[in-house]
Amino acid sequence: MNLTKTLTWAISALVVLPLVASANIDIHDAPSRPKNMIIMVGDGMGPAYTSAYRYYQNNPDTEEIEQTVFDRLLVGMASTYPARQSGFVTDSAASATALATGVKSYNGAISVDINKRPLTSIMQMAKARGMAIGIAVTSQVNHATPAAFLAHNESRRNYDEIAQSYLTSEADVILGGGQKYFPAPLLAQFKAKGYQHIDDFSMLAQINKGKVLGLFADVQLPWVIDQQDSTQLSQLTQKALDLLSQNEQGFVLLVEGSLIDWAGHNNDIATAMGEMHGFANAIEVVEQFVRANPDTLMVVTADHNTGGLSIGANGEYAWDTNLLQGIQASPAKIAEQAIAQDNWQAAVNQALGFEANEAELIRLSNARMQGKAALETSLKQLIDTRSYTGWTTTGHTGGDVQVFAAGPAADLFKGNQDNTDIAEKMMSLLPKTQ
Ligand SMILES: [Zn+2]
Repeated sequence: MNLTKTLTWAISALVVLPLVASANIDIHDAPSRPKNMIIMVGDGMGPAYTSAYRYYQNNPDTEEIEQTVFDRLLVGMASTYPARQSGFVTDSAASATALATGVKSYNGAISVDINKRPLTSIMQMAKARGMAIGIAVTSQVNHATPAAFLAHNESRRNYDEIAQSYLTSEADVILGGGQKYFPAPLLAQFKAKGYQHIDDFSMLAQINKGKVLGLFADVQLPWVIDQQDSTQLSQLTQKALDLLSQNEQGFVLLVEGSLIDWAGHNNDIATAMGEMHGFANAIEVVEQFVRANPDTLMVVTADHNTGGLSIGANGEYAWDTNLLQGIQASPAKIAEQAIAQDNWQAAVNQALGFEANEAELIRLSNARMQGKAALETSLKQLIDTRSYTGWTTTGHTGGDVQVFAAGPAADLFKGNQDNTDIAEKMMSLLPKTQ
């Protein structure tokens, strides 16, 4: 290190010191034990997704790579392996069971142990302490992750039983998709229990207090990339915070960016980045809430990795974010429209935001003759080849996931841990029972 550099470093250290001191004062003002806790799960959001999202979001007009909310909040890592009988690669059910109960179980388990006995979840513990509880997700509300927080079932596939069991979950706020699992007789039972039922985003504004069951799609919410609207999950998250924070004993909220995983299973990078953006926006809503309410802890993690996503592929040292940013719709939607149109080549080029060359158009044309599914696959392959995106599987992979946190006791989540530790740490922060 030369003298000029040393001097510059010493001066900048002097300038930084007062900032550090005032940050410390803020920390001392905040309570050591949070009143409210928010756990946010990016389903399938392994580290490759948060890195990819950073480059996808990067402003090409500036020299530096801008930080994302994930970079800002990162504190540690977590292993995700399920109960040993299920090997090293978890599914969402076993991982959500670990995050909700602190106990490892088999793949498919919804907060039951390896002997299929119910496990006490953090939501049940919170309720026993007079706290309010809720979920806000982009999948159907009875999908594996939210189900592990609100129900107990031997199988994630028992969607109807899980929806039925939400009646006794005492959840104050249930927001997401899944109309098809809540037929009229079941909705009537929810209303009899005092729930307000809504089924359209425009109705959110009418709900200002009390319990709510909001189901905004038949199954999952529409893809962010097809909506050209990344605010759906943030809107649900904001409403959940507004309602739950009215409880004087505090609250526990689960927010899930559920569809990052679904796009990963589809090996669909354009759609995955849209879902990442929706989830990042929801995290920013919670980050704002934590700043305004220093008695609130937020913890963000993923349940596992999906797809074996790689940034760069086929021996190339490249990843083309410009190309990805130009894609206007999901490959599924582009394929659907191209099947219905005669002048499909122009429409496909328009939706992709780049011109497919002659060889590529021949491949797309052959796929189009085989139908929508084949065309969608061909479009995804084209996007992957052009953007240098790689995938190793249509399933999950077993690498560790990141942990992000802010608010009182955020330091507890620093460093290396297991997903069950996250639950145990959050449970240890609940108020003591009498
Ligand atoms: Zn999955």
